[in-house]
Amino acid sequence: MNKKIFIELVKSLFLFGGILVLFYFGIQFLSEDKKVRWFASDSEFISYEKEIQLGDLIAEYIIEKDKKKRIQNQLIDSVVWVVSSHLQKELNLTEYDYKIQVIDSPEVNAFTLPGGRIYVNKGLLKFCDSAEQLAAVLAHEMGHVEKRHTISKLVKEFGLKIVFSVLGGDVLLLNELWETVLSSKFDRYQEKEADQFALNLLEKAHISPTAIASFFRKLNRHNLDYNEKIELLMTHPHNNSRIKRSLEYQTQKDFKPKRINIDWKNIKNKF
Ligand SMILES: [Zn+2]
Repeated sequence: MNKKIFIELVKSLFLFGGILVLFYFGIQFLSEDKKVRWFASDSEFISYEKEIQLGDLIAEYIIEKDKKKRIQNQLIDSVVWVVSSHLQKELNLTEYDYKIQVIDSPEVNAFTLPGGRIYVNKGLLKFCDSAEQLAAVLAHEMGHVEKRHTISKLVKEFGLKIVFSVLGGDVLLLNELWETVLSSKFDRYQEKEADQFALNLLEKAHISPTAIASFFRKLNRHNLDYNEKIELLMTHPHNNSRIKRSLEYQTQKDFKPKRINIDWKNIKNKF
């Protein structure tokens, strides 16, 4: 009899433990989701117009001041323009007038400023094996832009008051905003959202969504160190799930990818 009670007790304990574990993971999942929604709603207090103005200030006071930072090269500019215009024409109802520019840095990286400015490092252009891989990275960055991730990150970090005071002329804080744009990472939910946006956009642009997989596979092959300060390397431990999602993405039945008309290997050597 005692043994029976003991067994029942052990069973109950397991059941209770199981419920606790499920509850714990449920809360983890919910809180991450909610957290993102909470600060996403913060960015709604900033109009698109103000967001664009903030991006312009950072570009003007930080990036344009250091002339060496930005590359102005006709060949590079036109390659980036051709690739990005494939994507941009599929962004039907965008609030942003995209500006995509190249930075003179060997790091394999890209980043966005608030308001539709995307910067791609020369190191990334050289790293890509195809125009489609560059399109995959740009589509991902456009996801961060369209979902307003960068402005959300800044509002979360500094609060609306500081962001508005910068907009009101207190440009001394711009350096700090800039550091945060570069060094603080998006959370996993935002990265997933940007990836999902990229997969859909690539499909609409008739570019194979598997280009995301081939890009991240190459990152894995080169075993570039995980670096949480570099947008494209900060999710390194999760690259495999990004690759998987890209390969498993279901396109429409009649989807036929087209190659972007650029002789990539030849042109890359001239960068
Ligand atoms: Zn990202």
